[in-house]
Amino acid sequence: MNIYFDCDYTLITWDGKLRPKVEDTFRKLKEDGHDIYVWSGVGIRWLEVRRHNLEQYVTDCFHKPLFDYERKMQEFGIDPRPDIIVDDYLEITRFFGGIRITPYVYEKLDDRDMDKVYQFISSVSSNQRPDFTLNS
Ligand SMILES: [Mg+2]
Repeated sequence: MNIYFDCDYTLITWDGKLRPKVEDTFRKLKEDGHDIYVWSGVGIRWLEVRRHNLEQYVTDCFHKPLFDYERKMQEFGIDPRPDIIVDDYLEITRFFGGIRITPYVYEKLDDRDMDKVYQFISSVSSNQRPDFTLNS
C-alpha cells in the first residue's frame, strides 16, 4: 500500500527533532512491502528526510494539498494515490482515509504513537488482502 506521512508534528517537532520509533516503523513497513511517501503543506521535505537518515525508506516527497484535495492532487502531480495517510490534522485523514496521530510539537522521548500507526496499517493491509496469509 502507498502510505503517506505528513512531516511537521507527525514525524518531527517544531524544531525538527524526530519522533521516537519513526525509523523503526519505516523499516518495518518497507519490510512488509509498503511504499512510504512524505508530504507537507509547506513544500517538499527531502532535507528533513535526509537529515534523519530516512532516505532509504522514502520513495518520494510531495507538496501536500491543504484544501480542494482532488484538484490539488493533480496540480501537485501526486502519484500514486495514497491508500493510507498519517497526519496530525484530522480533516485530511478523513478525506483520504488513514490515522490521525497526536501532534508531536515538543520532544517527548516516551512517545509511542508510531507503534499504533504500525498496528493500524498492518491490520488494514491484512484485511484488504485476504490472500496475504496464504502467500506469505
Ligand atoms: Mg502536520
